[in-house]
Amino acid sequence: MIKADTILQTARELNVKAAIEIPRDVEKEIERMKEKETHELSRYVLIKILENYKAAIKDNRPMCADTGLPRYYAKIGNEAKIEGGMVLLEKMLRRATADTTNGIPLRPNRVHPFSRKDYNNNVGIHAPTVDYSFEPEADWLDLTVVHKGGLFGADYRMLFPADGIGGLKRFFLDCLAEFLRRGMSCQPVVIGIGVGGTKDVCVRLAKEAACLRMVGDRNPDPQIAALETELTALGNKAGFGPMGFPGNSAVLDVHIEVAYAHTGGMPVSIQHFCYAQRRKTARVFSDNTVSWREDPMWFTQYYRRDTIE
Ligand code: SF4
Repeated sequence: MIKADTILQTARELNVKAAIEIPRDVEKEIERMKEKETHELSRYVLIKILENYKAAIKDNRPMCADTGLPRYYAKIGNEAKIEGGMVLLEKMLRRATADTTNGIPLRPNRVHPFSRKDYNNNVGIHAPTVDYSFEPEADWLDLTVVHKGGLFGADYRMLFPADGIGGLKRFFLDCLAEFLRRGMSCQPVVIGIGVGGTKDVCVRLAKEAACLRMVGDRNPDPQIAALETELTALGNKAGFGPMGFPGNSAVLDVHIEVAYAHTGGMPVSIQHFCYAQRRKTARVFSDNTVSWREDPMWFTQYYRRDTIE
């Protein structure tokens, strides 16, 4: 049985690690970009980003003053037994958010949209969000914490099937121009693209693609994988460098996820995840031991299944 207290302690620790420790795959890619960047000012910015990652760990402080909107992804093994069920799980995750908002601290960004009421703990109506997925023949609970900004770098467009890959590329470039030329996405970014599904599923997939895959990871569908590689190269040839400066290092990676769509349309959503890539995953086993990792392993074969089984 997975105990509620183990979930609480794990979720607290996940928030701390996510806020402070840059995942190694992201840091490595920015180091590689720094070596290749030909514009002096952009190279300087990349050096400062790398220094900032190290300063966060040294000072035990969040890597960005804006700690975004903390959220959780829970992948639950089909055989997992959780003390108090899903209701107690959610209570522990909400409590961990409030505790770490005050403890690290995180910036209390969450307010009521009309009254601007603020509990000063990042908890409120539908805050923090918890997204769920399931895994067969497993008795563990995977918890991933993501702190993602919530203001810029996200868009949605309903394309027609005849718009095809060309239409998707145009939307991709429109988003680059809209967000990157003013540094509004705080690039270099990982770009998640959701294609298909209904509008809500399309937007969700784009966010998951941006936040829950490792830099360098490729979709198992070879055609989609080739498009990911092509768009990553395209994004770095559009003239944008980090933080709105001219350059050739704006896109850390592009990740595409698909869902079956209405036959009359091809919805597309694009989400940018900034260089402050706050994500961390823990697996809580049935004996209440915990292992930590950087790869969320959210997109399993089961999660992407396309048959009844
Ligand atoms: S977009 Fe990212 S780097 Fe920029 S202010 Fe927000 S959290 Fe910080």
